[in-house]
Amino acid sequence: MRTNQSPCRFCDRPPRPGQYRAPGPRGPICVDCLEAGLQLVHDGQARVSLGGTHLALAASPGEQACEFCGRSERRSFLGLRRALARMSCPQRGSVICADCLDRGGDLLNRVARERTK
Ligand SMILES: [Zn+2]
Ligand SMILES: [Zn+2]
Repeated sequence: MRTNQSPCRFCDRPPRPGQYRAPGPRGPICVDCLEAGLQLVHDGQARVSLGGTHLALAASPGEQACEFCGRSERRSFLGLRRALARMSCPQRGSVICADCLDRGGDLLNRVARERTK
């Protein structure tokens, strides 16, 4: 199996052997950063990743769209706009939104279940 050796977009660490990471258009995000991101968009607290980079909350529409889905806000069918919480890493210039963090978490759960079968 060919593995992608590019560093995680948020903590800048290379993959551990056998580690699955959620792919993104500009690079992957690792499980540790997905978990940190899910906590961050929930509690709003900036934190330091396991790679030593800084992770911060970005929530205002317009600034730094999510690099995984390209959105910086949620839009309902009625055209209402709602804030979309995002985790950004200033050092790496990377951003991921709460929805993509959820999707990434689901993806990794599915992979983990497949492995234990
Ligand atoms: Zn990472
Ligand atoms: Zn997104």
